[in-house]
Amino acid sequence: MLVSAKEMLNKAKAGKYAVGQFNINNLEWTKAILLTAQELNSPVILGVSEGAGKYMCGFKTVADMVKAMIGELGITVPVALHLDHGSYEGAKKCIEAGFSSIMFDGSHYPIEENIEKTKELVDICESLGLSIEAEVGAIGGEEDGVIGGGEVADPNECKMIADLGVTMLAAGIGNIHGKYPANWPGLRFDTLDAIQQLTGTMPLVLHGGTGIPADMIKKAISLGVSKINVNTECQLAFAAATRAYIEAGKDLEGKGFDPRKLLAPGVEAIKATVKEKMELFGSVGKA
Ligand SMILES: [Zn+2]
Repeated sequence: MLVSAKEMLNKAKAGKYAVGQFNINNLEWTKAILLTAQELNSPVILGVSEGAGKYMCGFKTVADMVKAMIGELGITVPVALHLDHGSYEGAKKCIEAGFSSIMFDGSHYPIEENIEKTKELVDICESLGLSIEAEVGAIGGEEDGVIGGGEVADPNECKMIADLGVTMLAAGIGNIHGKYPANWPGLRFDTLDAIQQLTGTMPLVLHGGTGIPADMIKKAISLGVSKINVNTECQLAFAAATRAYIEAGKDLEGKGFDPRKLLAPGVEAIKATVKEKMELFGSVGKA
């Protein structure tokens, strides 16, 4: 069922595990993630970037597809449909389209403006029963063409944003979107700890989950991370499986060109990646 992310994240926080946000790109992605969550009895967050929303013909199309799929597939675990790195305008569009959760990323604004815009959206989400994620301090890497410098958030600014009543908070702790460079120094646990000390029970969000070693993920969860975003890893798994199918010449055998056959190995690869992450994050059986 489609729900806000509030209850699942508060439960994760109390139970010392994290809920995965897996970004979707099309029907196959959505189906693979929903079926895996149901099979493992895990709560799940479907992430949609503004670029992916545009690709899938708009947020309304996405919301209607997800709702219909939850019904048709008999998905009973909690599912949140969440805007990832939303602009102020994008957030409003998703609220209108029927998303159950949004992220407003005002991290590129001066802190005063980030506070002002976040507060306005917090009030709207509160009145509609939606969850809202805010962000402080740019996270490194690339997401829809925006390049950040691997920054580390100021814990005091995190407290200011947390106090606005957001549901969950993303803060830069040395994490990066996309592939991590070989010389990456690792997550800043000192910053994570300082942020959590100041924000109390606020569920913290770790972006750029692809390529962070398992022991660092576990430590981050123990220090207060309750939501972890995974995007690139599913893309790499899908691409590798599709490449293997074509390189083996299977699209040239019989009806191997049928898209339902051609895309099947990629779908299985996404399922395997999601399963691996849910096991690592500890959300299996927590629906
Ligand atoms: Zn992100």
